[in-house]
Amino acid sequence: MNILVINSGSSSIKFQLLDMVAERVLASGLVERIGEALGRIKCTLRPGTGSERVVVRENRIADHTSGMRLAVEILTDPADGVIAQPSEVTAIGHRVVHGGEDFHQPTVIDDRVLAAIANNVPLAPLHNPANLAGIRVAQELFPQAAQVAVFDTAFHQTIPAHAYHYAIPYRLYEEERIRRYGFHGTSHKYVAGECARAMGRPLAELNIITIHLGNGCSMAAVGGGRSLDCTLGFTPLEGLVMGTRSGDLDPAIHAYLARNCGMDIEAIDTLLNKESGLKGLCGLNDMRDIHAAIAEGDQRARLALEVQTYRNKKYIGAYTAVLGRVDAIVFTAGIGENDAVTRAKSLAGLEPFGIVLDDERNRHPGGGPALLSHGTSRVEVWVIPTNEELAIARETKAVVAG
Ligand code: ADP
Repeated sequence: MNILVINSGSSSIKFQLLDMVAERVLASGLVERIGEALGRIKCTLRPGTGSERVVVRENRIADHTSGMRLAVEILTDPADGVIAQPSEVTAIGHRVVHGGEDFHQPTVIDDRVLAAIANNVPLAPLHNPANLAGIRVAQELFPQAAQVAVFDTAFHQTIPAHAYHYAIPYRLYEEERIRRYGFHGTSHKYVAGECARAMGRPLAELNIITIHLGNGCSMAAVGGGRSLDCTLGFTPLEGLVMGTRSGDLDPAIHAYLARNCGMDIEAIDTLLNKESGLKGLCGLNDMRDIHAAIAEGDQRARLALEVQTYRNKKYIGAYTAVLGRVDAIVFTAGIGENDAVTRAKSLAGLEPFGIVLDDERNRHPGGGPALLSHGTSRVEVWVIPTNEELAIARETKAVVAG
């Protein structure tokens, strides 16, 4: 059973073809700069095997359809493609950013589902239209394959009302659908499941805090396998300090910037989404660069690290209170998987909560899921590599299998 995972953005398409019997990646690729003067597709066939091959083509790629056509050409190349024809793809799993309140589960795409995704465009004006474009292309190029939507928000639909409501007039929830949705759901669900597997215990019995620290950063409180809260809110701007996004701030700062700094709404939106976070504090948004700058004595870089890890710690405390008893804390994504300093600082001083890191394990976790906590720690601390494509492929397989 071959499943193609598609993550379609406004000017790019990320794709991965997996053999879901062996859970093996057959090919993965990226089409980028769609619609620009010079587009590019890079596809790695049979990654990690002796016959790995990387194909790169640079041409103008007018639209998503031509981009995906190029990908299909490479995947089905008679000389060294990985499938003979598109009909060898059983199902396609589409990452869709916003499912609003309509979707609690991955769902087979039909006209009703397409209409609901379109209805959620106001909630994700950049992402949902691009996701819809990807779905239309896939329907055209793989007419026989089942098409499944896997929503970034779906896992968080179990968050209870007291956690998803903002304390603003209720009519804004009813009329504008303003509430916490939470994002990165596929990643939080996947690492919580993998953590339970690594611990050898049923997910239903565990309370887990999952911490996704990449360019985007979020934390979730997962009780018995269900999301009970997430730091990302109405949009992916709330909560933790991210690469270029501010995370939490006093909402009155918006009004102050408008009244006192002459900024309009677009400028404020750009400031908080693209020029804030780690980058806003020190000019750098890659954690590796921040460590290099700290080593050279850059005080702003140090401050950025302190602000981000303090916010992480504050939410670990909050979600400990939400869950009551915490069995495990999981770090994942680029920073979470690779940065021992961030993990140590985020957990420093939490020994009274039963959280004790093992310094040596934290510094050298090795690849794959790894236990980082000390034998005396009541709470297990894990690093679990996230794998959104595999997670989407598994969800898609489960939907297709019924
Ligand atoms: P995205 O959210 O775009 O999927 P990733 O999960 O790939 O991002 O995380 C990207 C970030 O991970 C980089 O910006 C960088 O800050 C961080 N990162 C990657 N590798 C390392 C490393 N070895 N040490 C510290 N940070 C790292």
